[in-house]
Amino acid sequence: MEYRRLGRSGLQLSVLSFGSWVTFHGQVEDRTADELMGIAYEKGINFFDNAETYANGESELMMGRVLKKKNWDRTSYIVSSKAYFGSRDKPVPNQTGLSRKHLVEACHEALRRLQLDYLDLYFCHRPDPNVPIEEVVWTMHTLIQQGKALYWGTSQWSAAEIMEAHKVAQQYCLIGPVMEQPQYNMFERFKMEQDYLPVFRSVGLGTTIWSPLAAGFLSGKYLNGIPKDSRFAMPGYEWLVKRWLQEERIGKTKKLASLASRLGVSLPALAIAWTIRDAATTTTAILGATHREQLLENLKALEVLPILTAEVLEEIERILQNKPVLDLQ
Ligand code: NDP
Repeated sequence: MEYRRLGRSGLQLSVLSFGSWVTFHGQVEDRTADELMGIAYEKGINFFDNAETYANGESELMMGRVLKKKNWDRTSYIVSSKAYFGSRDKPVPNQTGLSRKHLVEACHEALRRLQLDYLDLYFCHRPDPNVPIEEVVWTMHTLIQQGKALYWGTSQWSAAEIMEAHKVAQQYCLIGPVMEQPQYNMFERFKMEQDYLPVFRSVGLGTTIWSPLAAGFLSGKYLNGIPKDSRFAMPGYEWLVKRWLQEERIGKTKKLASLASRLGVSLPALAIAWTIRDAATTTTAILGATHREQLLENLKALEVLPILTAEVLEEIERILQNKPVLDLQ
């Protein structure tokens, strides 16, 4: 396993990590969660990602039970939570968003559910235009001062919003955000390859990227319809089908699949390796899996990384035709 520093912080994350969205409670029981986290940890993964909203808190409860049972040295792994969407079916005011009240209460609830004394990483799961950025930065700083979280960051914020948080942090000598959790995969490139470039250069930014397989689409398993036991077949996830099963993307994915087979690797391993190819921008790619075979396959991305030569990357670009155009002024 390779470890990379989270932005300009001192924390080292495994370049592949493991997350629980959709899967924990929604698709897998404790036994499989235990098996998957066990494989991940044995292979050197040290970061487990979670959020208050995943299965309305049930995902954190499940991860908490597994961590308790595993009894791993707390200093050997990193756990996150994220606040914004809330963990209740019908939230009333203050049970969602980034107010001081919700950020503090969501942190306390996550700690209780995960059965931990502190979160290593705490994310603002989306920007909240209804809360002054000063309130957000002060709250996250305070939670760190209280030892309830060690590092804070954002998810799906724009570069301008991240820089606004840094401005406030500098103004009041507070701890600013060190990481962002954006979606990044072969079809979703704008934030990582364009918007954040000035942030990487000026203040630094660690990234824990999500959906490296485009929710499973880049595994290639949807090229001939939707398998019954897959995420796209789940009720409530029709929006994923709409987002990913588009003719142009299917055509490109077929070409990527033949490139992978020419290279003698699997498509999911190639697609994941591509997301971690640049150590200066991607800190870690968070993997999702419902079966041990998927996780073991996806971990092979580490072996594919060295074969991503300039020629191979160029061939991928010729297939994708979606590289962000940089405005070099
Ligand atoms: P992926 O894009 O890697 O999709 C993972 C899913 O694809 C699996 O659960 C499985 O679903 C399928 N899959 C994975 N590997 C294979 C394989 N080798 N062959 C066939 N199918 C495969 O990642 P996720 O979308 O799950 O995101 C990863 C993590 O990122 C989440 O768990 C969460 O922690 C985080 N996240 C954060 C968000 C944010 O807003 N900050 C948003 C979304 C995710 P199945 O078997 O059901 O088809």
